[in-house]
Amino acid sequence: MHKKIAVLPGDGIGREIMDGAIKVLDVVARHFGHQFDYEFALIGGDAIDQEGTPLPENTIKVCKTSDAVLLGAVGGPKWDQNPSHLRPEKGLLGLRKELGVFANLRPVTCFPDLAEASTLKMEIIKEVDLMIVRELTGGLYFGEPKGRQNENGEESAVDTLFYTRREMERIIRKAFELAEVRRKKVTSVDKANVLETSKLWREVAEEVSKDFPEVKLEHMLVDNAAMQLIRNPAQFDVIVTENMFGDILSDEASMLTGSLGMLASASLSDDGPGLYEPVHGSAPDIAGQNKANPLAMILSAALMLKYSFSMNQEACAVEEAVQQVLKGGYRTGDIAQEGTTILSTDEMTQKVVEYL
Ligand code: ATP
Ligand code: MG
Repeated sequence: MHKKIAVLPGDGIGREIMDGAIKVLDVVARHFGHQFDYEFALIGGDAIDQEGTPLPENTIKVCKTSDAVLLGAVGGPKWDQNPSHLRPEKGLLGLRKELGVFANLRPVTCFPDLAEASTLKMEIIKEVDLMIVRELTGGLYFGEPKGRQNENGEESAVDTLFYTRREMERIIRKAFELAEVRRKKVTSVDKANVLETSKLWREVAEEVSKDFPEVKLEHMLVDNAAMQLIRNPAQFDVIVTENMFGDILSDEASMLTGSLGMLASASLSDDGPGLYEPVHGSAPDIAGQNKANPLAMILSAALMLKYSFSMNQEACAVEEAVQQVLKGGYRTGDIAQEGTTILSTDEMTQKVVEYL
């Protein structure tokens, strides 16, 4: 297959880890007989410095005309004092909006060789294999009215939690489609005892579930879900929820298995290119030192192979290579354990390439 990939390394460790992902993709292409063409573009702080905007028009064009988008990370202390329209994160939010990627997928799987780094008991953590599906383009973060007021000296602020039925339906449907090829269980998380949006969400979830007779649907209140993720995370297969609940629960879940440097994410739209990025940020404290863990970026590229290109075998090969590297006792500093060999970013990439 011939695919065009937009590559947005971004800031901080973004460039270093992107290097790793591309080396791995090159091996995949060679071995499986595909052709991947990469088109690089600017985003975030780098784009502010060079183009005066965190999301240049050209970047949007490159992304929209590609089959998928790989993104490293954006942001850093250099731009922290910038006015809000010149913040690196604005570039990422804008890109998500432009691409219409309403579904954010975060797989949380246990890497058995890293399990002892988790704060949970080994026997609990070993069984963890869940996927959080978070609505990404609606809800409290975008609803209007939104803003600050001052009436006769009384200050106030407002955010609005708003969803249309259509927005709920498409994200819930995505979750069911994923569950159908996994362990066939969807946990729909809401706060239906207090929120109107959650009551509609529950109705929509029940309706969508009729189209997936083999998938079991359960409803869970978000406070309970936060507790259950720690108490018994193995009970979950696919969790689907609205934007803010998903934001919080996915960060919580990301810590179940140990390391931030291992976690990948996919953001999908209905028909346009998907956006693939590691869960971690630009790690300014270690940027430029060849120390960053490239595995989350490499695993994000594997998600791209799976979800945008339907290259399941290829994706599995990459995931398997990562498992083998860990099994072989190789680590970057962030996941170092006693008796393991510490590698630089480049060396870690090289190891994955060798196993692949
Ligand atoms: P953001 O606001 O962009 O989410 P953040 O402030 O949450 O960023 P990160 O950039 O994710 O923070 O970094 C948090 C910590 O984890 C830092 O100490 C960083 O060095 C470390 N870290 C993050 N990603 C990696 C990685 N790939 N390899 C090694 N260490 C990492
Ligand atoms: Mg963060």
